[in-house]
Amino acid sequence: MALTLRVAGDRWRAHLRAVADAHPGIVPVVKGNGYGFGKASLARRSAWLGADTVAVGTYVEVADVLQRFDGDVMVMTPWRPPVRGEQIPYDPRVVHTVGRTNDLLAMGEDAPAGTRIVAEGLTSMARHGFDRHALADAAAALGRLRLQGFAVHLPMAGGRLDEAERWAAVLGASKLADRLETPTLYVSHLTDTELSGLGERRPGLTIRPRIGTALWLGDRGALRPTATVLDVHEVERGERVGYRQRAMPVAGHLVIVSGGTTHGIGLEAPTAASSLRQRATSIAKGGLEAAGLALSPYTIGGKQRWFAEPPHMQASMLLLPRSVPPPEVGAEVAVAVRFTTTTFDAVTLS
Ligand SMILES: *Cc1c(COP(=O)(O)O)cnc(C)c1O
Repeated sequence: MALTLRVAGDRWRAHLRAVADAHPGIVPVVKGNGYGFGKASLARRSAWLGADTVAVGTYVEVADVLQRFDGDVMVMTPWRPPVRGEQIPYDPRVVHTVGRTNDLLAMGEDAPAGTRIVAEGLTSMARHGFDRHALADAAAALGRLRLQGFAVHLPMAGGRLDEAERWAAVLGASKLADRLETPTLYVSHLTDTELSGLGERRPGLTIRPRIGTALWLGDRGALRPTATVLDVHEVERGERVGYRQRAMPVAGHLVIVSGGTTHGIGLEAPTAASSLRQRATSIAKGGLEAAGLALSPYTIGGKQRWFAEPPHMQASMLLLPRSVPPPEVGAEVAVAVRFTTTTFDAVTLS
């Protein structure tokens, strides 16, 4: 009776194993909704993979993950001076990210000596990090904080290998590097080819990729999101149904399925006619889009079906034309989801 992620266990585990084996020093990323699996589950799975470090997005995610993973927990959002009442987790297993000299100085006052950090370089991603000209000041501000390595977060497009290498060179030549026992660079979003290219150009550097999507969601064939058919009703053309009492443009069946806004269903950009011109085109073509319905992510009888009205909080109403035999109550139907915005009621491993 739920929105369920069905995982082909052997296939998924084999994929995880293959990705981990192909990326020595991998830092699994365990953040947000845990890529649909939940952070706790991914933290345990990271231990099973033999990872010594996982990365979380934010400080509020740390406590849960520390409880379920014995290794180090790297926080990728940079440290900022705590606002009133905020508790920064200065656990010896937490590795902080720092990207501003002022923050290094403030952290030196706030954090216990020996608190572990990585210094992030500001890439063309332009999100966080030290400008390359700030590295000398950063080295001077390090004080009794313990530097574990450098981090760079690269955009998904562009000349990333060159940029990663430029940063590796700049960081390696900086005074910060004198504070490292093992020169280590944590990188995000490099392809396998780029990773091996960087490794060849910088043999002295330990490169540790931080990987989320390609690890947890890299073998989509092992993942089958399904919804349960909760109810089926016959409906006439013109009959008004739902919260909005919208008149149905065709006769057929209403199919009520599990999954609603709570789960993240229907929160993507609407696919129904969005501009007047598109709308005119679809009216010319006829069909349910012309009637102002939106295409749902649920598949019945091999085709994506239309929402009878916008998704409710925990269920959705679909309109199935008369030509399609409706599914039985209790049947499972496939649903296409964006994993990073979906909260499943259950995750089952076969
Ligand atoms: C989220 C995140 C990652 C992981 O991204 P994926 O695309 O899921 O692999 C890596 N690095 C940083 C800094 C991130 O914020």
